Amino acid sequence: MVLYTPGRTSRYDPTPVERGLRLHFLGGGREVGNVGCVLEDKTGTRILIDYGLAPTRPPKYPAEAPLVDNAIITHSHIDHIGMAPWLVGSHGTTLHGSDLTAKLSSIMWADTYKVSSIEGYPLAWDRRDMDAALDAWQPHQMGEKFILGSWEASLHVAGHIPGAAMVEIDTPEMKILWSGDLDTRISPNVMGAKPVKCDVLCLEGTYGGRNHPNRPEEERRFVERIKETVSRGGVALVPAFASGRGQDILRILHDSAPELEVHYDGMGTRITLDWLEHPHLIRNHDKLRKTWRWCKRVRSKSDRKKALDADVIVTTSGMLDGGPAIWYINRLRHDPANAIFLTGYQAEGSGGRRLLDEGRLPIWGNITPVDLNVEQFSLSNHAGHDELVEFARGCSPRHLVIFHADKESADALAAELEGEMVIHIPENGSQITLE
Ligand SMILES: [Zn+2]
Repeated sequence: MVLYTPGRTSRYDPTPVERGLRLHFLGGGREVGNVGCVLEDKTGTRILIDYGLAPTRPPKYPAEAPLVDNAIITHSHIDHIGMAPWLVGSHGTTLHGSDLTAKLSSIMWADTYKVSSIEGYPLAWDRRDMDAALDAWQPHQMGEKFILGSWEASLHVAGHIPGAAMVEIDTPEMKILWSGDLDTRISPNVMGAKPVKCDVLCLEGTYGGRNHPNRPEEERRFVERIKETVSRGGVALVPAFASGRGQDILRILHDSAPELEVHYDGMGTRITLDWLEHPHLIRNHDKLRKTWRWCKRVRSKSDRKKALDADVIVTTSGMLDGGPAIWYINRLRHDPANAIFLTGYQAEGSGGRRLLDEGRLPIWGNITPVDLNVEQFSLSNHAGHDELVEFARGCSPRHLVIFHADKESADALAAELEGEMVIHIPENGSQITLE
C-alpha cells in the first residue's frame, strides 16, 4: 500500500551509526528503477538519494523514507524523482539537484499526478505537496560544493540525459560516488560521464552482462531504414521517450538527413524548451537550437492531421502505452508503406512489447492488429557492460555497490570485477555498513 503514515510505517532502523557508512535501499536494490537510498554515518548526517516510482500498472513505490533534511535527486526521470513531493510534504526535506532537474520536475510531477488520476491509482502525495516540492529545490551547478550536515557534496555530469548528475560526497571518513543513471559514451545531447576516484562507488547496473551495438553504426542503420520507408512513400513513426530519446532522434535526423520533413509531438516539446534554457548542460547546444527550428512541432489537432503527411513523426510514449503515438498508429496502420521504429527497451506488458511479439497492441482498449514493418533500434542512454566495468575500474573504489539492476545484470558485473574491489548487491529493506 502506498499511503504511508509518516514516521510510523517506516522500517528504517534509526540506531546511531558507530563507524563507516550505512546504506539502506528503500527501492532500486536488485531492481531497475524505483530508486531511493538512505545514507548515514556516525556524524548523524543522514540523506536520501533519489525518491522515484516505477510507472508500471499499478505503479511500484519505494518503502517509506525516514525523516531526512536533505535529498539529492540525480535526474528528472520518474523512477528517480516521482516520490519527492511526498518527502517535502511529510518531512519538509530540501531537494538538491542540477538546475535543469529542478526545472523539469514541474512537468514530471504534473504528468505523474495527471496519469494517476486518469488511471485511478493512488498516489501518496497531492497537488499541495507538489507545490511545496517546487519551492524546496536548492539547485546546484556541476562541480559546485555544497554542505549537507557534516558532509560536503558536489554534482558531476552523468551522461544519460541533460542535467543528470553523479553525486560525489566527502564524509569525514571516506569519499563516495553515486552514479545515478550513467552513460560514459557521448550521445547527441550530452557528453559522457568521467570516473571519479573514490572509496565507495554506488553504480547503476542496468546493462550489466549486455553490450550495446556500436552507437554510430546503429544510428546509421536507423537513418537508412527511415530513408527506405520515405522513398517507398511511407511515413516512419518513431515512438520515443519525452525526456532524452526523442531529442536524440531529432538531432540524429537533423545531422544525417536534413532533407526529411520531421514532426515532433507530445510532452517532449515542453521538456525541450526547458533544455534550451540550460545550454550549459547540452552538448553543442547551438545544434539543438538549429534542430529545434528545423523540426515541425505539433501544437494542435490540425497540426496532428498535417503530420500524417510528414516523412517522420517522433512522439511519445516510447513504449506505446499511450500518448499521441497511439493516435498516429491508428491512422497509419492501414497503409503498408508506413513503418514503426522503436528506439529503446520495451518493458514486459508494454504496448511496444506486444507489437513486437504479437503484431498487435491495445488502441483505446481494443487489441488491434498492426500489419506494418516494425523494427527496434538500440539507442540506449545507459552504459553497457564494458563501459560500466571500465568506469568502475577508473574510480578504483574499495567497495562497489551495484543497484538499479536485475539479479542477472548485477551478477555479471560482480563476476567481472570480483577480486578488484569488495562487491555488494544490497536488497531493498536491509542495511549494509561499509568501512
Ligand atoms: Zn534515467
